[in-house]
Amino acid sequence: MNSLRVNTKNLYIVLIFNIGAIFCSGQSPITPFESNPLTTCTYEECISFYKKLTTRSKFVKIVESGASDIDEPIHTVIISTSNVKNYEDCKKQNKLIILINNGIHPGEPDGIDASMIFARDMIVDPQWRKYLDRICIVIIPVYNIGGMKQRNSHTRANQNGPLEYGFRGNVQNLDLNRDFIKMDSRNAVSFVTIFQKWKPHIFIDTHTTDGADYPYTMTLISSQKNKLNPSIASCMYDQFVPELYAQMKKQKDEMFPYVDFEGLPNHGIYDFEDSPRYSSGYAALHHCLSFVTESHMLKPHRDRVNSQLRLLKTFVSTADLYKNKILESIESSKQFEIKKREYALSWTLDKSIADSLDFNAYEVEYPISPFLHKPYLFYNKNKVSSLRIPYYNYFVAQQTTTKPKFYIIHQAYHQVIDRLKKNNIPMTQLHSDSFINAQYYKIIDFQSPKKAYENHFLHSKVNVEKIAHSKKYFKGDYIIPMGYESDRFVIEVLEPQAKDSYFAWNFFDAITDRKEYFSDYIFTHQIGKIFEEQPQLFSEFQEKMKTDSSFKENVNAQLYFIYTNSKFSEPNFSIYPVARVE
Ligand SMILES: [Zn+2]
Repeated sequence: MNSLRVNTKNLYIVLIFNIGAIFCSGQSPITPFESNPLTTCTYEECISFYKKLTTRSKFVKIVESGASDIDEPIHTVIISTSNVKNYEDCKKQNKLIILINNGIHPGEPDGIDASMIFARDMIVDPQWRKYLDRICIVIIPVYNIGGMKQRNSHTRANQNGPLEYGFRGNVQNLDLNRDFIKMDSRNAVSFVTIFQKWKPHIFIDTHTTDGADYPYTMTLISSQKNKLNPSIASCMYDQFVPELYAQMKKQKDEMFPYVDFEGLPNHGIYDFEDSPRYSSGYAALHHCLSFVTESHMLKPHRDRVNSQLRLLKTFVSTADLYKNKILESIESSKQFEIKKREYALSWTLDKSIADSLDFNAYEVEYPISPFLHKPYLFYNKNKVSSLRIPYYNYFVAQQTTTKPKFYIIHQAYHQVIDRLKKNNIPMTQLHSDSFINAQYYKIIDFQSPKKAYENHFLHSKVNVEKIAHSKKYFKGDYIIPMGYESDRFVIEVLEPQAKDSYFAWNFFDAITDRKEYFSDYIFTHQIGKIFEEQPQLFSEFQEKMKTDSSFKENVNAQLYFIYTNSKFSEPNFSIYPVARVE
């Protein structure tokens, strides 16, 4: 079917054979892209298009689904032949749910345009409408609305159209595709609400990419396989993903894995570690087959839209083909999670093993720049060679932890509690003030950048010591029991060493500052009494004076040593305030 024009023949068939589906005999709406393939829609044109669709068919609804960072709501477009309002409705009807997110980076708008045509074709064309009996499609037409409304023609340097497009950052200049855990934007709060309402089986986030030149219009990030539970990894990588690639090739739009590389892709590519801050990494925490479509920015906008459209439709037909397998694998993954004991906190790419891929590569040349007088990288599109390249796609767990029976966290960390609640994490509250004897982490060390990253000073290389400790908690503080399908989310955000933990994203920074200190001129007089009360400390001090020459010469270090090991030192300094009851 020609995706660029309304198929009036099929529309006629729709009217004859399923008259109930069409309310109005007027023509189905045309997208601005179809009127002029050099353009992409504005936000207003996009929403108006979907609203027109709802007047054409009862199978499509548009719903205001939460705030964005400007005074416009984030919409969801629900496409289904039956009345479904959420995951529970779909579950009763045994429907598979696909959630499509568009315009997180509005300078990459081909998914926005493609989704509009896709939605129309799904309801108008019987070839596609037949899938709606088994599949419910939910589309976020535009996610970064504030970014989309900052239209310009230049910020996507090198991108091949459209003539105007939105800007990558939101109005706060956040990259919303780093915001799914920290949820700084109202968009992210709305997204999590939408995600938890629908609990999609398949999630697709549409993007456009640069970085290298190659003949493929479409590349795909499939959520990194090693961090998935076995049933989902097997369903995705043994069946679903190979079928996507095969079907795209059959349609003469051969697709390639996302091209992440060092130097040149001709020497091999790396799998993308989609940690939970990213859309697909977030979705994967919740047992969802998650993907990022990355069209190639050097291809014309028209080709990118058509490729996105083709791929979205291929997702639908492939999801239908493997529907039962997908639903079973997700259910198995949830059961596996409940019983799982050991969890990875960080991953590293294993460069000692690789799969291999056939890669159609542009030959590379290094002509001299007439202006810079230095050689520069030039991909010669007239010379294509077929290479067998390594695909480094194995990640190994670097640090691991075991699942506790409970975590306990102060209600004072309301920003953390709010985020846990938004993610439907089961919690109860303490009935009275209590000292909790449990395992705690003492934060020993961590690194932070000098420059802010996405509104935060993201910590990394967090070094902890696990200690038995007692800490006072208060009536109303939260107990987070483990043994649920959401366990992995809880571990990823509450274990301080996890890459995208709330500790890493600065929600607990105040614990790393002392709140009390000592005055050396008074404290010096107290040393004798301290040693009398703590003879063990006296022995340790003497030993250190004997063995550590710099310590012996440094009075301040000596006072600090005595203070921090005395009863005067605050007991919870650098103690991560989330108890692990094991
Ligand atoms: Zn992007």
